[in-house]
Amino acid sequence: MYLTLGVVLVGLLYFLVSLAGLAFFLSPGLGALACAFVRLVDPGDRGPRGHVHSLMVAGLGGVLGASAAALLGGQYADAWMWAGVVLSVAAASAIYSISARGGIAVCMRCRSPLDGASFICPRCQDRVCAKPTCWIAKFFRCTRCDENKIWVLHFPESWWRSRLGARVSKGQCNNCYGDAHEFDLRECGQCHWPTCQRCWDYHNGACQRCGWRIPDLPGRLLPFVQHARPASGPSPPEVRPAALDRPPAGAPPQASARAPRSPLRPKRPPRM
Ligand SMILES: [Zn+2]
Ligand SMILES: [Zn+2]
Ligand SMILES: [Zn+2]
Ligand SMILES: [Zn+2]
Repeated sequence: MYLTLGVVLVGLLYFLVSLAGLAFFLSPGLGALACAFVRLVDPGDRGPRGHVHSLMVAGLGGVLGASAAALLGGQYADAWMWAGVVLSVAAASAIYSISARGGIAVCMRCRSPLDGASFICPRCQDRVCAKPTCWIAKFFRCTRCDENKIWVLHFPESWWRSRLGARVSKGQCNNCYGDAHEFDLRECGQCHWPTCQRCWDYHNGACQRCGWRIPDLPGRLLPFVQHARPASGPSPPEVRPAALDRPPAGAPPQASARAPRSPLRPKRPPRM
């Protein structure tokens, strides 16, 4: 989307300099502008994708501007103008390579250079470093998404219905004890205990009772859930990390006020 904006911007400028007869002389500057634009809108990307984007903005923008100038029959619309487009792309490529060598991608949370392990958050798609202040490894999300309770399973009713069936009309969430009247509860495909949509989302589609996972999860979650514990079969309670029982983001106050569940706790405590 932003690339289109960059192409139009560069195209407009190329059109103006073509009309002024300065296209060839100013084309390296427009290549630099294309690089600056891509860097500005996507500061974290210093890899081959950013390189291609810079070339695209410079090249397509140049072609757009030069075509417009040629169509309008500008008096300077000549071969030099088209040579300028090539020069602009070459300049963009050179400038991108030099500037990318000078710096490396930075963590979108703490802004420190990403020279070690990094992750693309499945909720916001930002690349963040592995520091616990930036990435919550246990829950596969960046700390910003955790703080802002960003959902990953933000899907319409049809998505939920096709995987977990219709909304459950009575009972409580297996995880936060939210009531079926208040929350949209859906049954686990394996143990059939209901879990509210918020808890399904918080636990990245995993049943906290039996470990089953919702099928066909969004692709951006797959690299994380594929390395998680098996998606079927009961998980041994003694290896279950206590923090997994943390109340879900945005849980109702009565739920977060309860003591965390321990493996020894009765299966279904009486409702308070
Ligand atoms: Zn960081
Ligand atoms: Zn995030
Ligand atoms: Zn719940
Ligand atoms: Zn289950």
